[in-house]
Amino acid sequence: MSIFRAELAKRQTDLVGRRWLFIPYDQLSDSIGPLAREDPKTLGIILVENPWKAARRPYHKQKLALILANLRHFALEQAARGVAVRHLVAQGPYRKALEPLVSELGTMRMMGPAERELCADLQPLVDAGGLELIPHEGWLTTHDEFRVGAGEGPPWRMDFFYRYVRRKTGILMKGAKPAGGKYGFDRENRLPWKGNPRPPAPPTFPLDPIKEEVGRLIQSKFNHHPGSLDLSAVPGTATDADLLWSWAKRECLPLFGPYEDAMSTRSRSLFHTRISSLININRLLPDRVVKDVMGMDIPLPSKEGFIRQVLGWREFLHHIHVATDGFREIPAGNPPVASEPGDAGYSRWAGKPWPSKRLPGDPDGGAKPSFLGDGTPLPPAFWGEKSGFHCLDRIISDVWTEGYSHHITRLMVLCNLATLIGVSPRELTDWFWVAYTDAYDWVVEPNVLGMGTFAVGELMTTKPYVSGAAYILRMSDYCERCAFDPKANCPFTNLYWAFLARNESLLRYNPRLRMPMVSLRRRSVGRRQYDQAVFPMVRDTLLSGNVIKPEKLPEM
Ligand SMILES: Cc1cc2nc3c(=O)[nH]c(=O)nc-3n(C[C@H](O)[C@H](O)[C@H](O)COP(=O)(O)OP(=O)(O)OC[C@H]3O[C@@H](n4cnc5c(N)ncnc54)[C@H](O)[C@@H]3O)c2cc1C
Ligand code: SF4
Repeated sequence: MSIFRAELAKRQTDLVGRRWLFIPYDQLSDSIGPLAREDPKTLGIILVENPWKAARRPYHKQKLALILANLRHFALEQAARGVAVRHLVAQGPYRKALEPLVSELGTMRMMGPAERELCADLQPLVDAGGLELIPHEGWLTTHDEFRVGAGEGPPWRMDFFYRYVRRKTGILMKGAKPAGGKYGFDRENRLPWKGNPRPPAPPTFPLDPIKEEVGRLIQSKFNHHPGSLDLSAVPGTATDADLLWSWAKRECLPLFGPYEDAMSTRSRSLFHTRISSLININRLLPDRVVKDVMGMDIPLPSKEGFIRQVLGWREFLHHIHVATDGFREIPAGNPPVASEPGDAGYSRWAGKPWPSKRLPGDPDGGAKPSFLGDGTPLPPAFWGEKSGFHCLDRIISDVWTEGYSHHITRLMVLCNLATLIGVSPRELTDWFWVAYTDAYDWVVEPNVLGMGTFAVGELMTTKPYVSGAAYILRMSDYCERCAFDPKANCPFTNLYWAFLARNESLLRYNPRLRMPMVSLRRRSVGRRQYDQAVFPMVRDTLLSGNVIKPEKLPEM
């Protein structure tokens, strides 16, 4: 018997006469829903480990370890409270695993799934009356609040929604006015980081027999998944979640604001909190983190900067995903939908197919919008092959090491480069989905399709987030050790101008791109021709998996 099963058996109480709940991998909290309110001794929970789900995509090993360790520890924590636990290992869709239990135990309850993919999987069971969906209490806002707050969209704007929620809740308000006289402190919060103050080292978490057993399981059954595994970086218990959050409050929050947009080779997270992978499985609850931060005595730009992310962006993006049915229904015209999950270029890079186990009736692979018409495959550099761009290579290496990099690295380096060379937004989304430990469809799709690649046009952002080398030079130290000179020959800058020229007909009337478009038109014919020569050269070199070298750039 496994260590986990033996530990569960020791804590298990009588399974008879319970009211059963299905708790999916991302609702691991007893502070919301029936687990928070009803007598533990009257409740039973069903927890499902599912190799079929893991096999759908080449997920990072660290993500598998995070999910399994938390699921198992949650089972033990709940059993210790007197909740009866049924833990099963499924080999197919969740509904198939639950159907026999419905026959045995009767209709079970579940808080509405956050992931659309899980919703689609379970819908037949809901329709058949085997599963009763109850409201998910882990969100801070309702869909009605989104409808009212974000304007009569689409398009929708985060700022309208955020201000509305601030006014409605009174969070960071002084009467009818925002605290500090304004709703945002972007100007104060755009400092590059020059080495001081020293950022904290990320916390590590104690190993225990449950985590170690998960580690052995990953090495034996999931070793073909990409990425490194470091169990000491996996917060797996409720205590670990508290430890991470205490670290974030103490070490990160006071300086969260000013260095929010900074990037550095010397610290992967700088003053970012690293809580996303736990908040997205409800080990930490948004309500808790917002309340705690509201109670902290820290500078207002840091407090507001953080609250904006959790109360604003996180909620807004979830509502967008629901409102558009995962971007299947958008005003620009409903895009095609992938019949099965993409492997994000894994098979091209690895030279062998991803061994997924497809079953009839499996959920599809997600919407494939592409406002700019981009469809270039994802280069092998995203799987760890060297590109010669120090910024890109460094961040990719960080991601395959720990399944994490912070927001600006995701947006202004990874998505930026991918958009500049015309990568397929769906393939890039699939890559983020597998590579990051915090990725689930409702959050990764709006962030990549909506924000990172402009694949849904102005549906939720006003312009594409693209830039040349100047931004990366200003906000990071990556350029210091790069073979390219950001002020002279860095291809990011030529790619930026080539991008604007290529997409001029689609973007020329965008008010936020008026100045760049004017500058583009003023750019000399010679420079524009050079930009156009750099673009295919960089794209094709990256696609072939080769390193881009300054001496190989086209002649000026
Ligand atoms: C291309 C791209 C892909 C992304 N994919 C994901 C993803 O798969 N999962 C994910 O949780 N976040 C994603 N984000 C948002 C953001 O980058 C991460 O939430 C953040 O980097 C997580 O690190 P942290 O916990 O240190 O965040 P902090 O900077 O400390 O922020 C605190 C919290 O705010 C929330 N938050 C901040 N920005 C966002 C946002 N844009 N969307 C949702 N929540 C936000 C997160 O819960 C985060 O933990 C993505 C952003 C981009 C640009
Ligand atoms: S010079 Fe260009 S490629 Fe090199 S790190 Fe800077 S922005 Fe990236």
